[in-house]
Amino acid sequence: MSSSNGNGVKVLYIGGVGRSGSTLLDLLLGQIPGFFAVGELKYIWNRGLQENQLCGCGQPFRDCPFWQEVGRKAFGGWDTVDLDAMLELEDSVDSHQRLPVLVSPGLSPRYKGRLAAYGDVLHRLYAAVAEVSGSEVVVDSTKRPGYGFVLRRAEGIDLRVVHLVRDSRGVAFSWNKRVQRPEVHDRVEYMPSYSSFWAGARWTVTNALFHLLRACGADGPTVRYEQLVREPRGSLERIATEALGHESAPVRVPGDADWIAGHNHAVAGNPLRLKGGELKIRADEEWRTKMGARQRLVILLMTWPLLLRYGYLGKPRAQG
Ligand SMILES: [Zn+2]
Repeated sequence: MSSSNGNGVKVLYIGGVGRSGSTLLDLLLGQIPGFFAVGELKYIWNRGLQENQLCGCGQPFRDCPFWQEVGRKAFGGWDTVDLDAMLELEDSVDSHQRLPVLVSPGLSPRYKGRLAAYGDVLHRLYAAVAEVSGSEVVVDSTKRPGYGFVLRRAEGIDLRVVHLVRDSRGVAFSWNKRVQRPEVHDRVEYMPSYSSFWAGARWTVTNALFHLLRACGADGPTVRYEQLVREPRGSLERIATEALGHESAPVRVPGDADWIAGHNHAVAGNPLRLKGGELKIRADEEWRTKMGARQRLVILLMTWPLLLRYGYLGKPRAQG
């Protein structure tokens, strides 16, 4: 395992369940001087290189000058990458079925070899992003716990994790809605939606895995979505300081004079990254008035221990 002693490329990983505001946090962190947001980099191989989906700058991935330069620095050009072999390697290390192997302390020599090979690829990729963007910290909002464990075990990557949590009832309500993926420009495709039971189970397991990743030595702050949207500046300052290990340059939020609207090179992730223009931060609390009693009860019964731990039940806490 790599250690968090300051060696290697600094990667700030946003971990948590989908629909927790991770793309918003990614875009906000990406505007801090010295930070660069890449979106959900796990999906660079399939959604970027294979399907040529839209980058956050609005261009198809293969036409984006930033990613072309990263490809050159990391691998001598994307054309030198054997995509089929890469997708196979990724799948053999970090698919849903591999998760139990990935989080266990003892790894087979064969799996260790594949993990080292994939870790080497990721190290080259993140180092190239840091170099081309001229940044100190690369922000990745892939969110998935498995990929967090991969990064934690990769040599040459100095990992910090922001564990982003959101009230399970808000997440479940959002998961029930159908949202179209605008980055898929040649057909209609929707983001996944889940039943109440699966939403509750997924929320609990995902968050629990981030507690396990913490126990495996991945340091960093825990941030509540509701606190982030209420008080973005304070939340960002706290995350940036913990990620760097020292105070960051002043953070920017939408509305500040030096805020740069609508510019990013995020790969995959929520439709928000493609909107451009002024980014509006507002709390999505629709579930409080529109969520059905039955769904609310199912989610509450399934998720109350962690809801309690994060301070969502009982008296509201001042700290997020
Ligand atoms: Zn781009």
